[in-house]
Amino acid sequence: MKKITDLDITNKKVLIRCDFNVPLKDGQILDDNRIKEALKTINYCLEKNAKVILFSHLGRVKEESDLAKNNLEVVAKRLSELLNRKVTFVNETRGAKLENAIETMNPGDIVLVQNTRYEDLDGKKESSNDKELGQYWASLGDVFINDAFGTIHRAHASNVGIASNMEGKSAIGFLIEKELNALSALNEPEHPFIVILGGAKVSDKIGIIENLVTKADKILIGGGMAFTFLKAEGLEVGSSLIDEENIAFCKRILADYKDKIVLPVDAAVTTTFSNDEDYREKAISELASNEMGLDIGKKTLSLFEDALKDAKTVIWNGPLGVYEFDKYKENTNNLLKYLVDNNIKVILGGGDIVAAATNANLKDKVYHASTGGGATLEFLEGKKLPGIEAIK
Ligand code: AMP
Repeated sequence: MKKITDLDITNKKVLIRCDFNVPLKDGQILDDNRIKEALKTINYCLEKNAKVILFSHLGRVKEESDLAKNNLEVVAKRLSELLNRKVTFVNETRGAKLENAIETMNPGDIVLVQNTRYEDLDGKKESSNDKELGQYWASLGDVFINDAFGTIHRAHASNVGIASNMEGKSAIGFLIEKELNALSALNEPEHPFIVILGGAKVSDKIGIIENLVTKADKILIGGGMAFTFLKAEGLEVGSSLIDEENIAFCKRILADYKDKIVLPVDAAVTTTFSNDEDYREKAISELASNEMGLDIGKKTLSLFEDALKDAKTVIWNGPLGVYEFDKYKENTNNLLKYLVDNNIKVILGGGDIVAAATNANLKDKVYHASTGGGATLEFLEGKKLPGIEAIK
């Protein structure tokens, strides 16, 4: 597979698919990490005197009212600040205005095209990888760089569509290269290899469990999903989150891999799903019918730390508690800190655990925090990623 450094981009019109899908509130960017992660590829192209034409999606566009909410112009402003140079924003995804803006570019100029998902308003052209749209966008440049790791698991016109119309002239950018290098460490991990899983539902994690349970030395399970495993073991778990449909799956995994699975022995429990009430720490076996576990307890934290003591590789997906509530983020943060303090090679995969690490100021201290939630999950499930296949 070609990398950006394998292509001759000097003085060329370089189309770059970035992932500028940043969280917004009231029109303001809450976290510009994804824009910062794109800078290395953009700067490299600028150093080569390329004309840089940027594409990205932002949010979802289903109806007319989604357009204003997901206008990419706010990203152009931030990008311009970060690069300290002009970024020309074109409020169109096709047509004369866009073509003229590109035609009149000088080497070192930057154009950002409006949100690629504006094309979804008329028949989901971007998200269904409309053939004509991919051809059209490809016709605007000389080479194509895909650097949007967050959408690598999707076949959209702005990634797969462009790449398949630029055979031999497409490559991955530095961010995708970094993400793939980090995740590839999991194909042949240094052992002990420990998987930490949390989050809400078992159903979202079945693929990962199936794919990693044979490779991992241990799987530590916390978060809401742990209660379905505990119930499968025959415990009463009060009013904790339960994924009834997957109890049978949990039973099978526990029966086949009993020695590998580590489940919570205690939890921080309360009676309402909120941050308002005080919580108690209780053994799982002592939960009353109206009590729910919203974080793992201290004994479980010790159990998990013990299991991680000699770990050489760790992949972590999903928080161990309801980290959005201050009271229940504690042990996710404690375990993150344990890994960082002990220099354990940990890869955080998935939006929520990366957000938890960011909030705890630990994101920059871990070995790798992936920018792609769904993309990382599909990689971990062992699936082929269409964005990568198209470049290959
Ligand atoms: P996921 O997207 O599956 O990784 O799930 C992340 C979500 O799981 C977060 O919004 C957490 O609030 C939620 N979560 C974590 N632990 C629990 C728990 N014990 N009960 C309910 N939800 C939880």
